[in-house]
Amino acid sequence: MESQKQHPKQFSFEFFPPKSAEGAARLRETRDELAKLNPRYVSVTFGAGGSTQRGTIETVGEMLAAGLDTAPHLSCVGSSREDIRELLSGYIAMGVRRIVALRGDMPSGMREAGAFHHANELVEFIRSESGNHFHIEVAAYPEFHPQAASAESDLDNFANKVRAGANAAITQYFYNIDGYLRFIEECEKRHVEIPIVPGIMPITNIKNLARFSEMCGADIPRWLRLRLEAYGEDTASLRAFGLDVTTELCRRLLESGAPGLHFYTMNQAAPTRIIWTSLGL
Ligand code: FAD
Repeated sequence: MESQKQHPKQFSFEFFPPKSAEGAARLRETRDELAKLNPRYVSVTFGAGGSTQRGTIETVGEMLAAGLDTAPHLSCVGSSREDIRELLSGYIAMGVRRIVALRGDMPSGMREAGAFHHANELVEFIRSESGNHFHIEVAAYPEFHPQAASAESDLDNFANKVRAGANAAITQYFYNIDGYLRFIEECEKRHVEIPIVPGIMPITNIKNLARFSEMCGADIPRWLRLRLEAYGEDTASLRAFGLDVTTELCRRLLESGAPGLHFYTMNQAAPTRIIWTSLGL
């Protein structure tokens, strides 16, 4: 973990673009509450292939206007170079200085992969178009990407993506700390020394967590799944236990030298705030 301990700790919050006026109002409340915690930056997700692109730009505009350093997520699958060029110049005009660069997943029904096949090509393109204007974050998978041909090739692809010009990485969420520590060791062997910030998914609901985890390949350890399932309809106790487990994970990560935490807030303030307070941040 030596490569990680050298970086100052940074904390960030992720939001998704709201789908309704009600959702937008709720997100403003969440944003205002979490802004009090003084995050290094916030990020806003992006739907591959156009599904929420307008929403991302609007939400990024609102976050910037509220004084938050804001990083749009930008996924390249299904896009042409011109599409990405246009988005980049729009973001530069808005005052954006940070981007989370992703490949994304092909939406069902979309056939054309577009000009980019992997995130390393997007990172290279952003650098060639806009030099060092943007601080670029990329995605990392301590438990490996679901489409990885092998663990080794996934690690090599990650190192390659970093060499294309990434400044930092955010991980997929995980509940096995050993997988993260081992991932960092493997990155160090490949001379990757950028901050690799753990992505944290606060546990508040077993059904949603199981569904997301199935899609993104995050492992819910057996002991944890069985404990969560045992709460049945007692959602308050499940939530209290889930947040306790997530807090303990965060504590151990920070003690091990993780260079900060990136919270997948799911547009809710309370879970992140509770963990934050328990950690004494
Ligand atoms: P890549 O880095 O391109 O990796 C994808 C796969 O291709 C891996 O298996 C890798 O090993 C392989 N690969 C990489 N490079 C090469 C290469 N050069 N040659 C051959 N194989 C290669 N999705 C969204 O749609 N919107 C979002 O806002 C969003 N935000 C995210 C934020 C974070 C922090 C994370 C971890 C994920 C996010 N995702 C988002 C999901 C992400 O888009 C998917 O996981 C997607 O499948 C992979 O994107 P990537 O950028 O990691 O791809």
